[in-house]
Amino acid sequence: MQHLRTIHEDIYGVDRWSKGLITVLDNGEVALCDPMHPGATPISLPEILKDLDQRGIAAPVVLRVKSFLEAEIRHINQGFADAIARLNYQAPYRGVFPIKVNQQAQVVERIVEFGKQYEFGLEAGSKPELVVALAHRLSREALIVCNGVKDSEFIRLAILSRKLGFNTVIVLESPKEAETVIEVARELGEDPLLGVRVKLTQKIGGKWQESSGDRSAFGMNTDQLLRVVDRLRDEGLLHCLQLQHSHLGSQVPDVIDVRRAVAEACRYFVALTGEGAPLTHLDLGGGLGVDYTGEKRATENSINYTVEEYCTNVVETVAYAMDEAGLKHPVLVTESGRALVATSSMLIFEALESTKYDAPDTPAPEEGDNHLVSDLAAVGGYLTPERVQECWNDASYYRDELRALFRRGFVDLRQMARAERIYLSLMARIKEVVAQLEDASDLSDDMRGIADVYHCNFSLFQSLPDVWAIDQLHPIVPLQMLNKTPDRQAILSDITCDSDGKIDRFILADGIFQSLPVHSLPEDAPYYFGVFFVGAYQETLGDLHNLFGDTNVVTIDLRPDGKFDLLHEQEGDSISEVMAAVEFDPQDCIAAFRKMVDEATSEGTVATSDRKTLIEAYRASINGYTYYERHSA
Ligand SMILES: *Cc1c(COP(=O)(O)O)cnc(C)c1O
Repeated sequence: MQHLRTIHEDIYGVDRWSKGLITVLDNGEVALCDPMHPGATPISLPEILKDLDQRGIAAPVVLRVKSFLEAEIRHINQGFADAIARLNYQAPYRGVFPIKVNQQAQVVERIVEFGKQYEFGLEAGSKPELVVALAHRLSREALIVCNGVKDSEFIRLAILSRKLGFNTVIVLESPKEAETVIEVARELGEDPLLGVRVKLTQKIGGKWQESSGDRSAFGMNTDQLLRVVDRLRDEGLLHCLQLQHSHLGSQVPDVIDVRRAVAEACRYFVALTGEGAPLTHLDLGGGLGVDYTGEKRATENSINYTVEEYCTNVVETVAYAMDEAGLKHPVLVTESGRALVATSSMLIFEALESTKYDAPDTPAPEEGDNHLVSDLAAVGGYLTPERVQECWNDASYYRDELRALFRRGFVDLRQMARAERIYLSLMARIKEVVAQLEDASDLSDDMRGIADVYHCNFSLFQSLPDVWAIDQLHPIVPLQMLNKTPDRQAILSDITCDSDGKIDRFILADGIFQSLPVHSLPEDAPYYFGVFFVGAYQETLGDLHNLFGDTNVVTIDLRPDGKFDLLHEQEGDSISEVMAAVEFDPQDCIAAFRKMVDEATSEGTVATSDRKTLIEAYRASINGYTYYERHSA
């Protein structure tokens, strides 16, 4: 049977990267599928946005989906449970969620609640994160793993929390930290639960290579480990050392690296056990990746394994090493953050307007125009597929020469405007010719990139910091009209005044491209884009560039009847909130503005009747959303 391909598969590759969470309806709208209830009616995203808009929640908005998060928690726990059963592994899996990956209360709470059935715990990499972790009631067997640099206050809290039934493990990062722990434990007269962080020498590929191997900032080498073990033995605390921890780095692309690193971790585990450490838990840290592009390959934004394969590799490697050494199987712990939360939220924003590299018509050169204008117009006469690069070069040359003449005053404004329009209409024709080429690889890069700029209502620096800082790729698609062939190519630019505030790499069905196929902006309806899998690391790394603040965030629950419930709404920052974040006092600012208005009123430059309007306008702005607002309140 012939398989009917569609725009969303053929062009955007939605089915390849969407992990079954996203589909496209017959009406061309992107919709969410409930992974916890396969077969339930998919829910249209534009419909959700319309509903939110009616409730006064405008884009840009981060949309979090309860069941997407639950499905991932289940996925990892089930993956380990299956591998453990299949390989006859003799101990359970006890995962912990590293709070730093998404510290939002809604997310941490959901993980704790839904994770109870799996004895799922939390990882704290700092004192504030431990404070957050201890505000949750975890199940009896769940762990709290404390990593990172710890002072005595941190250590005291960790030790005391055991009195409340928390299994709080202090992972020793250095011999110096071990001394602080020994001191605090002696002072409290309480035994701590201890772990040691081992620095593995195995190098891991991918973007986070530096966090693995000798150069990693954390963990102890063999010499330091032995010193710590000896010190604990001297102090009569060696019986407290129950967990061995190592972290492979993030987004490990190649499953072979996982296997090698786990094998090395086991080597340490066996050796430390031989030294008398009564280890019972093997913690392998994070690193389980997300296939952002759907390529299923060991590249920076993809991975060559599934969650199930990861679990099997870990369980098999540990079982083999322990059996060989004649040791009991340890409890397996991982600290997967990215894989747990990345898929659970998406960023949605609207295109406000577009800058197109074409003109509605081609004006003819006029009497008295510089000859370069006619030369430019003549380029259209020899535009063929074979000569397209030459035409591009010529047109750009004539245009640049004319601009130089304009700057020196030899070409007037109307003539220059004519030339720009001729140039743009040529670009439009060149683009059409290029689109027809079988192979455009010979063309220069800037020529392939004559895409429109779609100006969108979001801040890259606030909402997608990793896209800006480390070239992270996320799938991006228009959320509507996917039943119509896109007629334009665009890059997306944000509303900060920063030339870096743009997205110009896109995951498409055939690979990674510098522009995104889009539709001409409709006159009478919003045109939204969705950026998917932004749940990990993006939400709190973001900054206040141009004072664009947090976006609105909503958590929704998908219902089987094709509707949704709004579980939680977190209003985005108002202007006064971002001002306060940079130490401006909004009340002082209002007072200062009012003073200026009053002075101008006394001087007569502002009419008395305008005084109120001016002050109200300032006040309304200060209370408003930091992003472009379509409807003013
Ligand atoms: C960041 C971090 C993690 C989370 O890593 P992911 O790749 O997101 O799973 C786990 N453990 C430690 C110690 C970390 O620093």
